[in-house]
Amino acid sequence: TMDFASRVERVEPSATLAISNKAAELEAEGKDVVDLSVGEPDFDTPENIKDAAKAALDAGHTGYTPSNGIPELKDALVDKLHDDGLTQYGADNLIVTPGGKQALYEIFQTIIDGDDEVALLDPAWVSYEAMAKLAGGTLTRVDTAAHDFQLEGALDDLAEAVSDDTALLVVNSPGNPHGAVYSREAMEGVRDLAVEHDITVISDEIYKEITYDGAEAVSLGTLDGMTDRTVTLNGFSKAYAMTGWRLGYFAGPEDLVSQAGKVHSHSVSCAVNFVQHAGVEALTNTDDAVEEMRQAFAERREFLIDLLEERGVRVPEPQGAFYMMPEVAPDVDDTEWCDRAISDAQVATVPGSAFGTPGYARFSYANSKDRLEEAVDRLAAEDLL
Ligand code: PLP
Repeated sequence: TMDFASRVERVEPSATLAISNKAAELEAEGKDVVDLSVGEPDFDTPENIKDAAKAALDAGHTGYTPSNGIPELKDALVDKLHDDGLTQYGADNLIVTPGGKQALYEIFQTIIDGDDEVALLDPAWVSYEAMAKLAGGTLTRVDTAAHDFQLEGALDDLAEAVSDDTALLVVNSPGNPHGAVYSREAMEGVRDLAVEHDITVISDEIYKEITYDGAEAVSLGTLDGMTDRTVTLNGFSKAYAMTGWRLGYFAGPEDLVSQAGKVHSHSVSCAVNFVQHAGVEALTNTDDAVEEMRQAFAERREFLIDLLEERGVRVPEPQGAFYMMPEVAPDVDDTEWCDRAISDAQVATVPGSAFGTPGYARFSYANSKDRLEEAVDRLAAEDLL
């Protein structure tokens, strides 16, 4: 038998993938599955972005690009970052990647040495843990569930968890899987700890454009003391419904970008040429489409919260992204609950345990109102709510 690297063997297979597989299996049997387990918008990519990609293909933009990205896209990204108050970043502070996930992978590979500690706020997106392990790091985790996924109440626990041994902290607001948007006060609390212990912080802002009720998604890199210790990460998948295009980026201090550029150029070379051109169009001409999608998510969010609350389920209110984590299994095993939900009601959700938060399940509302209602009706019919 082959011998495998321990850093790979330490990683768990994706829990979300296991659920998608189960849903696909049932669908192959002819069952009608309501899939609330997906992490992508149910909208098609806006037409003008597709047209820009076609035009770029026709113009022959099919070769390698400069490794860190085409100048037009970097310039458009610098403008966007400046609009968000992140004025410390210029074109040399950026790497354009095939998806935000690759950006994260490169950051972890660049910063984490064997046994360096990575701090996560639970419930945390599953890939952070995997990437920390692949880089050889160890984990320390802070649970925000007791505070309805808000960070302010968990700052004391975070202060306990981090130390001078903590190399990296990941902050994701608006967050997957919880949908919480962390307050400015909470972000300032993070800042104080990062400065005290000299911690680099990844600010994963991939859901930044998707917020509700006027919630403000604070970019950590705008806070005093954070401009040189924040790596700001974003991508096109969620805001522009471009998951399959694979386009993302990160911005950070020049020395980090120069080191990470080695991981980038020796692994992917560059992001896809004509996709980068489409990215310029997305950034400069797509405000209306983004707002339309945001409004659709906003309506569905209220609709689903109401349906669940009518059934007596507690729902910590999400202010962003397109997920919520109702407390569906306060007294039973949430993995069993999700197994029953898919087997008995044909409703796919992700158990909170997959994100470090048992008792809850992640519901994605990137789905029509009809299907959301169908899901809740079926779960109720099986006594799961
Ligand atoms: N960060 C978070 C919190 C996510 O949920 C995702 C996608 O699910 C990503 C990053 C990466 O997305 P992509 O690689 O499609 O840009």
